[in-house]
Amino acid sequence: MMDEICIKGLRLFGYHGVYPEEEERGQDFYIDLKLFLSTQAAGISDELEDSISYEEVCEFVTAEFKKKRYRLIEAVAENLSCALFRKYTGLSELELKLSKPEAPLDAVFEDVSVTIRRKKHVVYIAYGANEGDSLRQIEDSIAMVDKDPFCKVVRMTRPIQSTPYGDVVQNDFYNGVLEIYTLYNPVDLMKRLHEIERFQGLDRDKKIHWGPRPLDLDILLYDNEVIDLPGLTVPHRDMVNRDFVMIPLAELAPHVRHPLLGLTIGELAKKPMEKHLRK
Ligand code: ADP
Ligand code: MG
Repeated sequence: MMDEICIKGLRLFGYHGVYPEEEERGQDFYIDLKLFLSTQAAGISDELEDSISYEEVCEFVTAEFKKKRYRLIEAVAENLSCALFRKYTGLSELELKLSKPEAPLDAVFEDVSVTIRRKKHVVYIAYGANEGDSLRQIEDSIAMVDKDPFCKVVRMTRPIQSTPYGDVVQNDFYNGVLEIYTLYNPVDLMKRLHEIERFQGLDRDKKIHWGPRPLDLDILLYDNEVIDLPGLTVPHRDMVNRDFVMIPLAELAPHVRHPLLGLTIGELAKKPMEKHLRK
């Protein structure tokens, strides 16, 4: 159960909109914000630094709201949400309603609004590279993940050098694991990681399975969700059979439980993997 901090009816003047008169004249917008976090530490200490200050949130939201003009209130809301998660690390969920009661519509109405609900998801990603300047590609791709407004790299293991898996003759691999938080759903996160792989020079159509690649980013765990879609299986189907994944993952998340196998990552990393999972 999560506590809530609410701000209701924050009025902001802005120029967001699709119609020319909205861009020229501007109008009043209203924001209702619910921030979900634990307020217990602040409840015990009675210190503002243990909570989120409403005043600071209002100032921050106002500044972000005015930073850039958007056509859609959906986009304004999405960007505010990303900025709030980036600023307040204790925030685990939010609900944001953005309304514009003066919208220039040819209709009689009281209000128009969008309400978005966003949640921070904890995801573990395996990275690997063995073609080109592997370490550089890894570093650049991690920076790309971190710069994405919907993601933040929380922790990572350093790249470890290892001998490739499978029969193809190739360079050594550099592998490691990232812990990130993301606001993307699993499918959109996968799409984004594929984009980053492509940016680092991976041509998916030409790739040899188990063969050399400039960059590989795999979703290992997404909260404790079990996903089985075409092109996306979570937990990653083969992760428990790969020491170069399990050893770094166990460094970051030894107590996290594999949602299908019921054992912790620490336990799984210690056992001979072939016994755990074979399709
Ligand atoms: P691997 O990463 O297992 O060595 P590839 O990178 O060649 O192999 O991945 C092949 C396909 O696996 C990708 O096109 C991707 O859509 C799919 N896939 C399924 N589940 C996942 C996942 N959890 N993470 C990354 N890719 C996945
Ligand atoms: Mg992959």
